Amino acid sequence: MVSSAIHAQTPKKVVAKPSALARPKLVVGIVVDQMRYDYLYRYYDQYTEGGFKRMMNEGFNCRNNHYSYALTVTAAGHASAYTGSIPAINGIIGNEWYDPIKKQDVYCVEDSTVQTVGSNNAVVGKMSPKNLLVSTITDQLRIATNFRSKTIGVAIKDRGSILPAGHSANAAYWFDSKTGNWVTSTYYMDDLPQWAKGYNAKKMPAEYLKKGWDLLLTADAYGQSSPDDVAWEGKLPGAKKPVFPYELMGMSGDAFGIVTDTPWGNTITKEMAIEAIKGENLGKGKDTDFIAISFSSPDKIGHRVGPNSIEQQDDFLRLDREFADLFGFLDTWVGKGEYTVFLTADHGVVDVPGFAASHKLPSGLVDRKLLTETVTNAISEAFGKEKYIVATDNNQLYIDHSLLKKKNITMAAMAAVVRDAALTVPGVADVLDLSDMGKAPLNSYQLELYKNNVNAKRSGDLQVISQPGWFYGTSTGTSHGTPYNYDTQVPFVMFGWGVNKGETVRRTSVSDIAPTIASLLHILPGSGNIGLPVEEALKK
Ligand SMILES: [Zn+2]
Repeated sequence: MVSSAIHAQTPKKVVAKPSALARPKLVVGIVVDQMRYDYLYRYYDQYTEGGFKRMMNEGFNCRNNHYSYALTVTAAGHASAYTGSIPAINGIIGNEWYDPIKKQDVYCVEDSTVQTVGSNNAVVGKMSPKNLLVSTITDQLRIATNFRSKTIGVAIKDRGSILPAGHSANAAYWFDSKTGNWVTSTYYMDDLPQWAKGYNAKKMPAEYLKKGWDLLLTADAYGQSSPDDVAWEGKLPGAKKPVFPYELMGMSGDAFGIVTDTPWGNTITKEMAIEAIKGENLGKGKDTDFIAISFSSPDKIGHRVGPNSIEQQDDFLRLDREFADLFGFLDTWVGKGEYTVFLTADHGVVDVPGFAASHKLPSGLVDRKLLTETVTNAISEAFGKEKYIVATDNNQLYIDHSLLKKKNITMAAMAAVVRDAALTVPGVADVLDLSDMGKAPLNSYQLELYKNNVNAKRSGDLQVISQPGWFYGTSTGTSHGTPYNYDTQVPFVMFGWGVNKGETVRRTSVSDIAPTIASLLHILPGSGNIGLPVEEALKK
């Protein structure tokens, strides 16, 4: 019991005055997986007033926003956006890498010490942010409010949810394509909240599977895209042709995985996010809450059919409608002008080489088998037949350091042999010795991007660099992961509470996103932050 004497000393409750620190009620971070910058304008005339256009017209648009490191892939992109940092510091150098000490491959968010929560699939939930070496903007918000702020991540991909939500997140949810359930791990909780169980019980992915995928608009509205049936488009598992309408029922393979290969993946992501906001009462408390949503399906569609397809045009027109719906919900739930939204992407994408070639643009496919054989043979010839290359990840060769030492071979000598051999393979632009970048003959712009990517404990030794427009793959579909403009330039648009209306074409970095949000909230950015706030975007 509290004694009356102590009770008398309790200070009077502080009544909020206009001079009290002002913050938005909710921050909504949106990452669209594989959204190249030009998609804001490529389909502009067909966007509604409530989605992409609302962000651009009401808010602030950084129109020349880039990644500041070389290996532009999903995990690294999500980590950079939410840490204000770079792979060299935050440790997320790729979706996976090789650990030379443990002598094994590592997946960016793997964690063998935790278990799945929310489905009977034991593998899907063995995930946490433990490989992320720094704090996120979401962590900093939690710290700043003594953990009263709630932060939650939602994405089909585990890494798209877990890395943005941060270490101290209340929850991160991702999608189990085996069962069609949204899941999490024991890192966050031991049981799903009732609202999440309720949404899973509705089995919406099964409903959307039945609907199939047909065009949103009439066929003549898709003038921004190549014809529907072209040789460089990949097919959905079990489909005979890559054409509309897509009948999704009865296709071979992973049924709920196929849902996420269509715009319905965006629909279930939006629905899950809204359920989380309602279920956890986000934006209704005294302290700012934060939901980090990542839309993974555009990446899955893009890899299969590329950026110039009717499929991707339809996907973005539908995503625009999902955004309009989400913002409409937030206007009612939180209140217009009471929340802040930012939009970015984890990387861009290269045009499909087949498409590029058909229009005489520089492009091609690097033959990975030929590259491996050429390099291995050259090494054997120079230094003898031993296993010098212990792993290859992110187009980096991990060399056996103890074997080099034993044979008295320097890394510089090894690098010279690999470089000379690899340069004979079509599409290879250069090979970079990551242990000695000071002497590299590479241009200074790209050198900086590679330096920003190298983490001493996780990166390989020799980086193979492909030519612009080229990627490692097959004749259908496309990819990303390079330091070239089509992969580095992504949207950064903010709107809502505290955000000016306007735009800039000065070069900004994805690493500037977290410090800009930190400035808006009057909190520290993450522990690895290197970015600068975009001052013009913030109301004084
Ligand atoms: Zn991605």
